[in-house]
Amino acid sequence: MKRRTFMKKIAGLSLGVSLTTLALPNKAKSEIIKPFAKLVADNVLDDDLIASIKALKQHSPGLIIGETHSHSTFSDGGHSVETIFTRGATLGLDFVTITEHLTHDRYFLEQNIASIEEQDRVRKYWNHEGLKPPVCYPALEVSTNMGHLITLFPEEYYKPNMLKQIHRYFQTFDKSLPPAESVARLTCAMGGVTIIPHPGISRSYPFGMPLSYIEHKFVEYADSIEDICTAHALNEKYSHRFGLASIGASDDHLNILCGTTVTAFQSSKYPDLQHAIKKRGTMAIRVSDKLDPLFTPVKLFFKPSNMISSHI
Ligand SMILES: [Zn+2]
Ligand SMILES: [Zn+2]
Repeated sequence: MKRRTFMKKIAGLSLGVSLTTLALPNKAKSEIIKPFAKLVADNVLDDDLIASIKALKQHSPGLIIGETHSHSTFSDGGHSVETIFTRGATLGLDFVTITEHLTHDRYFLEQNIASIEEQDRVRKYWNHEGLKPPVCYPALEVSTNMGHLITLFPEEYYKPNMLKQIHRYFQTFDKSLPPAESVARLTCAMGGVTIIPHPGISRSYPFGMPLSYIEHKFVEYADSIEDICTAHALNEKYSHRFGLASIGASDDHLNILCGTTVTAFQSSKYPDLQHAIKKRGTMAIRVSDKLDPLFTPVKLFFKPSNMISSHI
């Protein structure tokens, strides 16, 4: 099948699936989309991503490239932690961050902790010959009173005694929407960094932080912000506007978007992602726009206020 015909088919299918399944729960929606997600990944996308990521590294030796925003079956994603890490490694990503939701009425801290433990287990017992396991960081996407906020911790938080601290300090967020400032202050005090995901995008409440709130109140608490995000067709320069570190992410729930937009930093300048974010040394890079047809029709068709799903 010619690539143009193929992408046209995918775009139509995507719109159809979105129209007919928006009222379904995320898990059911994910099951419906899975077969064509695999079709896209197997036939078109992955080879392009592998080649583009390789080219980026050849062009800039020492560049560390990875994903900062994705979801597994421990919250509303459709794939296991191991599947996500394996595909990320196959694509040539150096790090893959899984950010399960922590939402007071739906996704609870126990699931976040279980996901973080599973990430550690998968990495420890990695048995994919010829593939290096990606670096990963314990992270959560917390629903705050002003919108989602990603909190990303150093790798040492995989140790059980450190993980207990996340359990201890984050458990109150199970019960009600916490103030965004409190979550950011706590994360900073614990040695982590914050990322503002999908800024300015309003779907369900809470979702993206309002830009005016970021500008006037939250900018002093935040470390970084998504400039580019595949799942939300976001492509802005908010990091320049607000003086924050620049993040590129996919917000992947289906294990197909990961790698299409990435965050990168120079390993000669920064030892890890946290340091790069703190020093505003990260870059958002759009690796592939081949999945745009999956999202632009939906974006054009629905006004933001009509979107009733929390993601995708
Ligand atoms: Zn979100
Ligand atoms: Zn998300």
